[in-house]
Amino acid sequence: MQYIAKVRRYHEMTYNRCGRSGIKLPAISFGLWNNFGCEDAIANQRRMLMKAFDLGITHFDLANNYGPPPGIAERNFGRILKETFSAYRDEMIISTKAGYRMWDGPYGDWGSRKYLISSLDQSLQRMGLDYVDIFYHHRPDPETPLEETMAALDHIVRQGKALYVGISNYNAEQTKQAVKILEQQKTPFIIHQAAYSMLDRSIESGLTDVLEEHGVGCIAYVPLAQGLLTNKYLNGIPKDSRAAKEYIPFLNSKDISSDVLQKIKRLNDLALSRGQSLAQMALAWVLQEKTVVSALIGASRVSQIEENVKALQNLTFTEEELKVIDDVLI
Ligand code: NDP
Repeated sequence: MQYIAKVRRYHEMTYNRCGRSGIKLPAISFGLWNNFGCEDAIANQRRMLMKAFDLGITHFDLANNYGPPPGIAERNFGRILKETFSAYRDEMIISTKAGYRMWDGPYGDWGSRKYLISSLDQSLQRMGLDYVDIFYHHRPDPETPLEETMAALDHIVRQGKALYVGISNYNAEQTKQAVKILEQQKTPFIIHQAAYSMLDRSIESGLTDVLEEHGVGCIAYVPLAQGLLTNKYLNGIPKDSRAAKEYIPFLNSKDISSDVLQKIKRLNDLALSRGQSLAQMALAWVLQEKTVVSALIGASRVSQIEENVKALQNLTFTEEELKVIDDVLI
């Protein structure tokens, strides 16, 4: 499909430096965890990627296991890249990861050198790429020596298969240990991908200090708590929502308890008083954490991406507003 990106695509987006690296990331990045699998129309996937790029979103985040089923998001993304975005590869930061179970047997999971290197080879093949911009270890492995996992990340960069590396879901102590090894190896380690939203503030107790000290950027995943921090579930569970889709096990009706709903309603009132939607306020809130470079959103339709990018029009909070948020969330 012939696609010519909007000429003004870089005018509205904010780009933040990722830690102390040379790379800037868009304040809003786009992830393909859900909505890019077998059950999702490829035409809608393509429309979302084109809209994101037209709005200045240059960073697209994948993992070997995204789908469902695992691998399909990378395959669909590769197809759309080839058919639609081939002229724009150098304007994009594409990331993928390995760390969760991908294939049978002892070599398709966790953090061995064997798994990481063969998984990235498979990811590159699915996406039709020679290299990714960022390759992550997706979660800490309690059994493999950290030295082996970090050496595998370094090897991948020396092979030219990734330009930079990151880690994800490592806690403060694990991150400290990883940084030490990566610094010794002189590996271009620039980013930590961590869950962060108004409903999950655990990175504030230790991890952000480590990242700041070592000049590593944080990209905040699930900033909308999978849709809870939007107006989507205020009046029940829509049929086409993630919580209603049986093939997506990560959010279901049990997660939308009356306690959570009560908080969301109060946050929604505050967002409206700021002239924003709740989704926009949730993204603005994540972006005011000092180490957060980018809020990594998901979406099931173009209109959500359009709405979310408008969060950048109001990123400041008064002390009073922050206090209301703290009070709601206690
Ligand atoms: P979000 O918290 O942004 O949730 C996205 C979902 O929220 C959408 O699918 C949509 O739900 C809903 N939504 C988004 N915008 C709006 C809006 N304006 N109004 C109403 N509903 C809206 O993030 P995700 O859970 O999708 O995760 C984002 C990315 O983070 C992933 O794609 C992945 O790249 C990364 N990630 C990384 C992990 C890791 O371990 N490193 C783990 C999980 C995610 P609906 O589909 O119902 O319309």
